[in-house]
Amino acid sequence: MVELIRIPLNDIVSKIKEKTGLSEQQILEKVDKKCQQLAGLVSKDGAAHIIANELGVKLLEHGGRQKIKDIFAGMRSVEIVGRILQVYEPKDFTRSDGTPGKVGSFSIGDETGMTRVVCWGEQTSILRDLKPGIIALIVNAQARDNNRGFKELHLSEQSRVAVNPPGETVGEVKERSQAARKAIKELSEQDANVEILGTITESFAPKFFEICPQCNKSAKQGNCAQHGQVTPNYSCVFNVILDDGSDNIRVVFFRNQMERLLNKSTEDILAYRENLDSFEQVRSDLLGHIIKVVGKVNRNMFFDRLEFVAQLVFANPNPDEELARLSAQA
Ligand SMILES: [Zn+2]
Repeated sequence: MVELIRIPLNDIVSKIKEKTGLSEQQILEKVDKKCQQLAGLVSKDGAAHIIANELGVKLLEHGGRQKIKDIFAGMRSVEIVGRILQVYEPKDFTRSDGTPGKVGSFSIGDETGMTRVVCWGEQTSILRDLKPGIIALIVNAQARDNNRGFKELHLSEQSRVAVNPPGETVGEVKERSQAARKAIKELSEQDANVEILGTITESFAPKFFEICPQCNKSAKQGNCAQHGQVTPNYSCVFNVILDDGSDNIRVVFFRNQMERLLNKSTEDILAYRENLDSFEQVRSDLLGHIIKVVGKVNRNMFFDRLEFVAQLVFANPNPDEELARLSAQA
């Protein structure tokens, strides 16, 4: 399977900014101009690649060790050294052919960011040696996008993990930085890790879809692109319109964040699949609620509109804190 390395536009822009000293606006103007020159033959990402090339900015450092911020989906043979942040219990599952499988994960960080590392089968035994705080060297991992658009590393038979490798140090780990608050009208396609606060003015029925029990990617009629015929699990997506007075935007919640928003369990949420009518009350109860959401802006290609994908939702923001924050900014 050929998987192209996909570098998001905002990462290309920040790389060009870092290497050339051009401002974000100057770079985006060049990107727009290139898009126009090529009469819509390339996407903004594509145009940004071309601009980087023209300016002699290398987007990918080939070979050798990477910093976490420079890892992009599609890269193979990734090598990083970082500090273990969290270790999750491995989970057993049954493949469609009835054979048992096992999947586990941990998170690791360096001075530039953090990422999740996924391991399968026998590889999950390394989780026993990992504890938060220790340094680990990972060699030959593969970077992929998960189904939420975040990068993660996958370990294979060829991957190696060394615990407390001699002579290796890691500086202070850059955990997800505090999200910047933005007014909805200020949001742009490059925004990631931003926070918005607003009132729910519309809400829609959730849409349920099949996911593969092995890789959690979407499955179609019990068929996973990677794992073939499977007995699917279900996940869902739920949208609301959030309005903060400056503008409004559609906010997209996947199952985890939908659970947080509604303060319901996975079982409660999945039960609505069989009984969507019972969701009607929940849906209308949400109208008028003020919520705070951290996430990123995404262009929905199908509808050609910007959407806000929730990564963390605060269903009951503290009004005093929010007022204090507003007056501090004023
Ligand atoms: Zn699968």
